[in-house]
Amino acid sequence: MSHIVLKLPKSKLETMKAHYSTQLKATPNNAYFAAKTPSCVITAYLSGKVLFQGKDPEAEADKWGDASKKEAKPKKQEHGYHPPESLFTSSHIGSDEAGTGDYFGPITVACAYVQDHQINQLKAIGVRDSKNLSDPQITDLAKRIVEMKIPYSLLRLPNKKYNQLQRKGWTQGKMKTILHHQAIEKLLQKIEPEKPKGILIDQFSQPNVYQKHLRSEKQSLQNDVYFMTKAESYSIAVAVGSIIARSAFVKAMNQLEMDTGLDVPKGASGKVDRAAAEMIRHYGEEKLEEVAKVHFANTEKAKKLL
Ligand code: MN
Repeated sequence: MSHIVLKLPKSKLETMKAHYSTQLKATPNNAYFAAKTPSCVITAYLSGKVLFQGKDPEAEADKWGDASKKEAKPKKQEHGYHPPESLFTSSHIGSDEAGTGDYFGPITVACAYVQDHQINQLKAIGVRDSKNLSDPQITDLAKRIVEMKIPYSLLRLPNKKYNQLQRKGWTQGKMKTILHHQAIEKLLQKIEPEKPKGILIDQFSQPNVYQKHLRSEKQSLQNDVYFMTKAESYSIAVAVGSIIARSAFVKAMNQLEMDTGLDVPKGASGKVDRAAAEMIRHYGEEKLEEVAKVHFANTEKAKKLL
């Protein structure tokens, strides 16, 4: 099985549909038409994209366009998002976030610029994946990172703003995208004229979705941006970013407990439902707007507890 994607003008799609009129099959969602020939299945989309899939897609694709140009571009791009091995040992920026799965507290995003000669030093003080570190360890490491004067940029998305954006139709993915992008932009300015060998983002969505979100806000990807999942286990810069983001999140949660005098647990479990119910009891439901991600199911569960 192989496949070819052609990008064709709309007028051609109609001609194609007529051509395959005796071989049409049920049209999938979002498609313009689908047809089945002995050599392949053809799915055409209103965007002009036509997908030829099967044992010999060229046989049909060649009738309609230059198959030598078949989606070489998207494939290359997709591959190009993965960092080269050499990046992990070079001076680079790493970016990560915290607080996204937690009902209470802000989303925090941090990126850091680590130079090649600092990598071993950071490893030596215990910098690693923040998921394997306790809150006090994270707080302590964040302090030491700051002492080492590692350049970083940290952004917090307060819950009030989060809830506004969420109601405007922003997904968490879009919020994270814009936060990472802005944090990186700020850090690049901070370290000028120095240029990193690359920028690695701990991947939370497909890179093309990340790019789509950027375009929707008229932004575009900086140079040499890479994505990979579990990046904090490979890149010390991402691990530093994750520690700074996490430490800011922990700090915000502690502050919330001090300000409200209530227990403010992390995560989104039943314990969180009960804490949210307490929050409503003491401060009213509107308080959640400024301390929680109100679209989480915890809000409704908390109200049922009252
Ligand atoms: Mn992450």
